[in-house]
Amino acid sequence: MLKLFIAAVAVALLYWIWTKKNHIFPGKNNESDPFITTIEAIELQTYLDWDTPVSCLESDGIRYGKQFKQKTPPELPHEHGCRCEATKLFYTSEDVFQGTSPISKHKSALGELSTKDALLLKNILLEIKTNSIDDSFTDLIKKFQVNDFSDEVRSRAISMAEHAFQDTQSK
Ligand SMILES: [Zn+2]
Repeated sequence: MLKLFIAAVAVALLYWIWTKKNHIFPGKNNESDPFITTIEAIELQTYLDWDTPVSCLESDGIRYGKQFKQKTPPELPHEHGCRCEATKLFYTSEDVFQGTSPISKHKSALGELSTKDALLLKNILLEIKTNSIDDSFTDLIKKFQVNDFSDEVRSRAISMAEHAFQDTQSK
Protein backbone atom coordinates (compact mmCIF):
# COMPACT_ATOMS: atom_id res chain seq x y z
CA MET A 1 0.00 0.00 0.00
CA LEU A 2 2.83 2.38 0.93
CA LYS A 3 4.64 1.65 -2.33
CA LEU A 4 1.49 2.48 -4.26
CA PHE A 5 1.17 5.72 -2.37
CA ILE A 6 4.79 6.69 -3.10
CA ALA A 7 4.28 5.84 -6.78
CA ALA A 8 1.15 7.97 -6.90
CA VAL A 9 2.94 10.90 -5.28
CA ALA A 10 5.86 10.53 -7.69
CA VAL A 11 3.55 10.55 -10.70
CA ALA A 12 1.71 13.59 -9.35
CA LEU A 13 5.00 15.37 -8.75
CA LEU A 14 6.30 14.59 -12.24
CA TYR A 15 3.06 15.82 -13.76
CA TRP A 16 3.27 19.01 -11.71
CA ILE A 17 6.87 19.65 -12.80
CA TRP A 18 5.91 18.98 -16.41
CA THR A 19 3.09 21.52 -16.29
CA LYS A 20 5.31 24.06 -14.53
CA LYS A 21 8.42 23.66 -16.64
CA ASN A 22 7.50 26.51 -18.93
CA HIS A 23 7.39 28.76 -15.89
CA ILE A 24 10.57 27.43 -14.37
CA PHE A 25 12.57 27.79 -17.57
CA PRO A 26 10.97 30.80 -19.19
CA GLY A 27 11.61 31.66 -22.78
CA LYS A 28 14.25 29.03 -23.41
CA ASN A 29 13.38 29.14 -27.06
CA ASN A 30 13.44 32.91 -27.30
CA GLU A 31 16.20 34.42 -29.36
CA SER A 32 17.34 36.79 -26.62
CA ASP A 33 18.64 35.05 -23.55
CA PRO A 34 16.64 36.23 -20.54
CA PHE A 35 19.46 35.19 -18.19
CA ILE A 36 21.72 37.95 -19.47
CA THR A 37 21.31 40.99 -17.27
CA THR A 38 23.30 44.17 -17.14
CA ILE A 39 25.33 44.99 -14.09
CA GLU A 40 26.58 48.46 -13.28
CA ALA A 41 30.08 48.70 -11.89
CA ILE A 42 33.14 50.88 -11.69
CA GLU A 43 36.38 49.48 -13.06
CA LEU A 44 39.79 50.83 -12.18
CA GLN A 45 42.28 51.10 -14.97
CA THR A 46 45.84 52.11 -14.31
CA TYR A 47 48.11 53.88 -16.74
CA LEU A 48 50.97 51.52 -17.51
CA ASP A 49 54.43 53.00 -17.42
CA TRP A 50 57.82 52.00 -16.03
CA ASP A 51 57.20 54.08 -12.91
CA THR A 52 53.55 53.12 -12.24
CA PRO A 53 53.27 52.48 -8.48
CA VAL A 54 52.72 48.89 -7.28
CA SER A 55 49.43 49.72 -5.57
CA CYS A 56 48.10 51.00 -8.88
CA LEU A 57 49.29 47.94 -10.81
CA GLU A 58 47.64 45.72 -8.21
CA SER A 59 44.31 47.48 -8.40
CA ASP A 60 44.18 47.54 -12.19
CA GLY A 61 41.06 45.85 -13.49
CA ILE A 62 39.35 45.58 -10.10
CA ARG A 63 35.60 46.11 -10.28
CA TYR A 64 33.51 47.79 -7.65
CA GLY A 65 29.76 47.71 -7.31
CA LYS A 66 26.76 46.22 -5.60
CA GLN A 67 27.26 42.81 -7.21
CA PHE A 68 30.99 42.69 -6.54
CA LYS A 69 33.02 41.76 -3.50
CA GLN A 70 34.28 45.32 -3.16
CA LYS A 71 31.44 47.80 -3.07
CA THR A 72 33.04 51.22 -3.30
CA PRO A 73 36.15 52.27 -5.21
CA PRO A 74 39.05 53.83 -3.29
CA GLU A 75 39.80 57.53 -3.36
CA LEU A 76 42.09 58.39 -6.25
CA PRO A 77 44.95 59.05 -6.58
CA HIS A 78 46.21 55.99 -4.70
CA GLU A 79 49.55 57.62 -4.06
CA HIS A 80 52.04 59.99 -5.63
CA GLY A 81 52.41 59.11 -9.31
CA CYS A 82 49.00 57.44 -9.57
CA ARG A 83 47.34 57.90 -12.94
CA CYS A 84 44.50 55.45 -12.42
CA GLU A 85 41.08 56.13 -13.81
CA ALA A 86 37.75 54.88 -12.52
CA THR A 87 35.28 54.20 -15.32
CA LYS A 88 31.62 53.49 -14.89
CA LEU A 89 30.60 50.51 -16.96
CA PHE A 90 27.70 48.31 -17.76
CA TYR A 91 28.61 44.66 -17.89
CA THR A 92 26.47 41.83 -19.03
CA SER A 93 26.31 38.88 -16.67
CA GLU A 94 28.21 37.04 -19.39
CA ASP A 95 31.13 39.49 -19.04
CA VAL A 96 31.21 38.84 -15.32
CA PHE A 97 31.19 35.06 -15.65
CA GLN A 98 33.79 34.99 -18.38
CA GLY A 99 35.95 37.73 -16.91
CA THR A 100 35.67 39.83 -20.04
CA SER A 101 35.33 43.58 -19.94
CA PRO A 102 33.62 46.13 -22.15
CA ILE A 103 36.90 48.07 -21.97
CA SER A 104 38.97 46.80 -24.87
CA LYS A 105 41.77 49.36 -24.81
CA HIS A 106 44.24 50.02 -22.07
CA LYS A 107 46.08 53.32 -21.60
CA SER A 108 49.84 53.23 -21.32
CA ALA A 109 53.00 55.15 -22.09
CA LEU A 110 53.14 53.03 -25.27
CA GLY A 111 49.76 54.32 -26.40
CA GLU A 112 46.55 52.36 -26.23
CA LEU A 113 47.23 48.68 -25.74
CA SER A 114 45.02 45.70 -26.35
CA THR A 115 43.75 43.95 -23.22
CA LYS A 116 46.13 41.06 -23.84
CA ASP A 117 49.24 43.23 -24.25
CA ALA A 118 48.27 45.33 -21.23
CA LEU A 119 47.80 42.29 -18.99
CA LEU A 120 51.18 40.84 -19.94
CA LEU A 121 52.93 44.18 -19.48
CA LYS A 122 51.25 44.70 -16.11
CA ASN A 123 52.31 41.24 -14.90
CA ILE A 124 55.92 41.86 -15.96
CA LEU A 125 55.98 45.26 -14.21
CA LEU A 126 54.46 43.75 -11.07
CA GLU A 127 57.05 40.97 -11.04
CA ILE A 128 59.85 43.51 -11.40
CA LYS A 129 58.52 45.71 -8.62
CA THR A 130 57.51 43.04 -6.12
CA ASN A 131 60.22 40.42 -6.63
CA SER A 132 63.84 41.48 -6.38
CA ILE A 133 65.56 38.09 -6.29
CA ASP A 134 66.37 37.99 -9.99
CA ASP A 135 70.02 38.43 -10.88
CA SER A 136 69.45 39.97 -14.22
CA PHE A 137 66.75 41.36 -16.41
CA THR A 138 67.28 38.49 -18.84
CA ASP A 139 66.47 35.96 -16.08
CA LEU A 140 63.35 37.83 -15.14
CA ILE A 141 61.98 38.33 -18.62
CA LYS A 142 62.51 34.61 -19.37
CA LYS A 143 59.61 33.84 -17.02
CA PHE A 144 57.21 35.52 -19.41
CA GLN A 145 56.00 34.70 -22.89
CA VAL A 146 57.16 37.95 -24.47
CA ASN A 147 56.33 36.51 -27.87
CA ASP A 148 52.69 36.90 -26.88
CA PHE A 149 53.07 40.68 -27.19
CA SER A 150 51.76 42.14 -30.42
CA ASP A 151 54.60 42.77 -32.89
CA GLU A 152 54.11 46.51 -32.81
CA VAL A 153 54.52 46.84 -29.04
CA ARG A 154 56.89 43.98 -28.13
CA SER A 155 60.25 45.78 -28.29
CA ARG A 156 58.90 48.94 -26.66
CA ALA A 157 57.20 46.93 -23.90
CA ILE A 158 60.46 45.09 -23.17
CA SER A 159 62.35 48.42 -23.10
CA MET A 160 59.82 49.77 -20.63
CA ALA A 161 60.22 46.70 -18.44
CA GLU A 162 64.00 47.04 -18.59
CA HIS A 163 63.73 50.67 -17.55
CA ALA A 164 61.58 49.62 -14.57
CA PHE A 165 64.09 46.90 -13.71
CA GLN A 166 67.07 49.27 -13.80
CA ASP A 167 65.12 51.66 -11.59
CA THR A 168 64.60 48.98 -8.91
CA GLN A 169 68.31 48.04 -9.11
CA SER A 170 69.42 51.61 -8.54
CA LYS A 171 67.38 51.95 -5.35
ZN1 LIG B 1 46.49 54.41 -8.80
